[in-house]
Amino acid sequence: MTCATAYEGRGVVHHVPRLEEHRDRDVVIAGGGDSAVDWALALAPIARSVTLVHRRASFRAHEHSVRQLYGAPVRVLTDAQPVACHGTGRLESVDIGTRHGGTLNLPAHTLITALGFVTNLGPLAGWGMEVEYRQIRVDAAMRTSLPGVYAVGDGCTYPGRVPLISVGFGEAATAVNHAAVALRPGARLAPGHSSDARPEPVPA
Ligand SMILES: Cc1cc2nc3c(=O)[nH]c(=O)nc-3n(C[C@H](O)[C@H](O)[C@H](O)COP(=O)(O)OP(=O)(O)OC[C@H]3O[C@@H](n4cnc5c(N)ncnc54)[C@H](O)[C@@H]3O)c2cc1C
Repeated sequence: MTCATAYEGRGVVHHVPRLEEHRDRDVVIAGGGDSAVDWALALAPIARSVTLVHRRASFRAHEHSVRQLYGAPVRVLTDAQPVACHGTGRLESVDIGTRHGGTLNLPAHTLITALGFVTNLGPLAGWGMEVEYRQIRVDAAMRTSLPGVYAVGDGCTYPGRVPLISVGFGEAATAVNHAAVALRPGARLAPGHSSDARPEPVPA
């Protein structure tokens, strides 16, 4: 979105650290994922106006959030994207181009570009672990290709992985249990469950 570059930090932002900064302001959000939809929902009761612009017809965000979006006071423009920013010194309005060639000028104090993040492994990329699309490849025990190194969370990958918080927690439990057995051969992998506990024998 080259139009935004000239207003970087002067109305064009990529994060919303404090919702209050947008109170009583006209906000345009570009994007179709969880960040875009979550910020639109969070800002709807605070900002003067919120417009969500997405270049496709359908959203990638969680289905429940998208349902909430269409019930919220948010103007939703699909098949559309920002094409120009205007303002003297700082952002004042944004031109939205539609798939059909039309252009809509929206007043905007802020344009939030929520167009996605690129995973960056940083120094981990140089450790020699097998990496696939910038994520660390692991097996079912969360082992990386580097002996003794385990990986969990959105930074790792295996077929069918779903990027959810609960999945990451489960992976951590899997990794820790397997690491414990690797460190203490003979230890039991399965942690056991409280429901497995036998009642203490009652003394005769
Ligand atoms: C907008 C949005 C909404 C979402 N909604 C949901 C939802 O409703 N339900 C759900 O289950 N999932 C949701 N997710 C997905 C969920 O957030 C992720 O699956 C989860 O946070 C992944 O956890 P993680 O610990 O692997 O990575 P992260 O949560 O990204 O944590 C990685 C941490 O490592 C830190 N870090 C990075 N590099 C370094 C470094 N070099 N040194 C030290 N620290 C570093 C980062 O700052 C960060 O704190 C959502 C994601 C987004 C973006």
